[in-house]
Amino acid sequence: MTHLYPADIDLESDDVNLQDICATEWAAYKQALDSVIDLDAAGFIADNCWHPVARLDEAVVALLCASWHAGVRAAQAASTGSGFAVPLTSCPRCGGQGHLWDEQWIRVVGAKPATCWGCDGRGVVGSAGIG
Ligand SMILES: [Zn+2]
Repeated sequence: MTHLYPADIDLESDDVNLQDICATEWAAYKQALDSVIDLDAAGFIADNCWHPVARLDEAVVALLCASWHAGVRAAQAASTGSGFAVPLTSCPRCGGQGHLWDEQWIRVVGAKPATCWGCDGRGVVGSAGIG
């Protein structure tokens, strides 16, 4: 089913349904998520707010929304010929994980975990509130 958004829609408003914009990928994600929940369905239902899968789902949806808004801002900057700033970047040392394993960003079974010294475990570097 085709949904036509008007040309003057505010692309950063709640009028844009991101689940529809990327419907195929959204459906694949939700179906894969259900497969993971099936691995521990009883645990997920009993502890759904703090279950790691629930936290992962929240993080994925937040990433989808942030990616959309970043794309809108990048397109607006490109159309006006201006640049745009990002106040935070992913930590180049740990790739956003906040941890290192034997001083490497790749997790290896048996490696000693440690808080990333590049970002103090935040996974990001820079300062929020700018840009
Ligand atoms: Zn780091």
